[in-house]
Amino acid sequence: MAQPDDPSRLPPVAATADLAVLRRPSYDGADVILEVNRILAPVTVLGAGKRLGLWVQGCRLRCPGCASVDTWIPGRGRRLEVAELARTISAEAIARGLDGLTLTGGEPFDQAEALAALVERVRGGLTGWAGAGGFDVLAFTGYAAAAAPARAGALWKRLDAAVCGPYRPDQPSQSPLVASANQELLVLSDLGRSKYPLAPCAPRMQAFCDGEDLTMVGLPLPGDLDAIARRLAERGVALGRVSWRN
Ligand code: SF4
Repeated sequence: MAQPDDPSRLPPVAATADLAVLRRPSYDGADVILEVNRILAPVTVLGAGKRLGLWVQGCRLRCPGCASVDTWIPGRGRRLEVAELARTISAEAIARGLDGLTLTGGEPFDQAEALAALVERVRGGLTGWAGAGGFDVLAFTGYAAAAAPARAGALWKRLDAAVCGPYRPDQPSQSPLVASANQELLVLSDLGRSKYPLAPCAPRMQAFCDGEDLTMVGLPLPGDLDAIARRLAERGVALGRVSWRN
């Protein structure tokens, strides 16, 4: 049976920088596995307060205009052991005073069983968390509200809120957390009700820079990302491969 890599090789999500990508080697052991695209913290545009954002890898919905095309194809992410990942997230939440966890992607509900285990373990590891108001879990799913609970299974009752529905570029929305007007924010717990819906506020986008990698996070309106690329080009910054195009 394969053993997990030595946890001492696991760097902290972010010791000093704003960028927080988990660069753990892939793992294929006996524990529950989650395939992850990226992890960032502190994320401030995808939920209440400062959050750890977890992008899963794999989405079969293929919405036209999706800004996360790089998350579509399963097998291109990192396969992480849930138990170790949960310990890392809990430790980061405590150390950084994070307010919650955002699950996005990719399609979180295509890996719902692993995420249910992850959320359970993260919450169980928050002893010593001293934030205000409670540590909430918010998920973004491309499944419509009517289908989402069945898709999420055991994960659904572990969520405090969920934004449900496929992205529709012909229905742009500037409502908080809603990228297109067909999507619905469902509040699922008392903790969720204490935090959501959010008041309208700016900004809706956030940038993380790590060496030569620039990661844009948030809910861009149609054309926003190409406009940013044009503005950067005007200032002599050429983007190489971009994740929002195939
Ligand atoms: S559900 Fe989300 S990740 Fe999947 S294609 Fe639609 S917008 Fe992209």
